[in-house]
Amino acid sequence: MSGAFTSKQQTLKLEAKFGGVCLPGLSLWLDPQRQVPEDGHVFVSHAHSDHVARHKKFIATTATALFLKSRLRTTFVPEQFDFFRSRILESRTGSFRLTLLPAGHVLGSAMALLDTDAGRLLYTGDFKLKPCPIAENCDFSPAKHCDVLVMETTYGLPQYVFPPEDEVHAQIASFCKETLAAKATPVLLASSLGKSQKLILGLAKFGLPIMVHNTIHALNVIYQQMGFALPHCEVFHPDRLRGKVLICPPSAARRIAAQCPTELRLAVASGWALDPRCRFRLGVHAGFPLSNHADYSELVRLVECIEPRLIVTLHGFASEFASTLRAAGWNAQTLSVPEQLDLPLRLSSNRLCSATI
Ligand SMILES: [Zn+2]
Repeated sequence: MSGAFTSKQQTLKLEAKFGGVCLPGLSLWLDPQRQVPEDGHVFVSHAHSDHVARHKKFIATTATALFLKSRLRTTFVPEQFDFFRSRILESRTGSFRLTLLPAGHVLGSAMALLDTDAGRLLYTGDFKLKPCPIAENCDFSPAKHCDVLVMETTYGLPQYVFPPEDEVHAQIASFCKETLAAKATPVLLASSLGKSQKLILGLAKFGLPIMVHNTIHALNVIYQQMGFALPHCEVFHPDRLRGKVLICPPSAARRIAAQCPTELRLAVASGWALDPRCRFRLGVHAGFPLSNHADYSELVRLVECIEPRLIVTLHGFASEFASTLRAAGWNAQTLSVPEQLDLPLRLSSNRLCSATI
């Protein structure tokens, strides 16, 4: 990287705004959930709904742009970036360099590495360090020793350490087999992008016939276009469901239940299933801790590997994780209101964080 970013006297301002992060000095928005002023650069880290809005123009990887085209059914102009290929962007206050790095969360998910006059900043979006069969392997190595690490901390408490995924897939397969043996239909609730494809690959090893909701099928087609092989899955039809495992997004469960002739047994695949109350809260028969997010141990490992001068935490247990880091001697602070409080005002909060780097 260029050595042009050596001034440590300047202030880089971060602002939690519109559900994402704004760097007003760079006219740059990271994962805003609302449309932003047209003169700003918008970076969309991946195609999950809590990271996007109907932006007319945005920066993303090719896979993310394809997923969004399929999901939003709207016209937009993505500025497509390849991983590791830096580009210079202009802002009101000068230029900065942007490099996208693979985040390991879902196909196309990216971290943003910014080289600015005030220093280097890495924004993670959602990420996972352990290799995941449905995403490019996470690689943050170009960001080592950056000045500021802005990181998601969804599972930022020590109890959220996920078991090996092979074990979880075996438990899910047992649940499916027992349900089918009882002449009922196992329905696995999972996000359409990423988690569903992970379930498909995991269950295929157990020879279980799988049917998927049509939103998942549309995304499977893009996975295959991008060179990720997935086993064949039939598209949901209630008349052909008997004897099969159904994977569908939680938002479609009620509609599917109304159409199905067989008894359904629901299970959720989520990191929150580590909490025994999760399945009762969601009203499902079982919960399995399968996640595409970094667990607590991966969050700590990211910090220890990068060794930034300042860590800014976002989302989930952000304040708890920041105080854990401070207790371990790191310079850490939180930018967002903790999500677990589910504050309706969160989207309109404008908390400011200034980091002199
Ligand atoms: Zn995500």
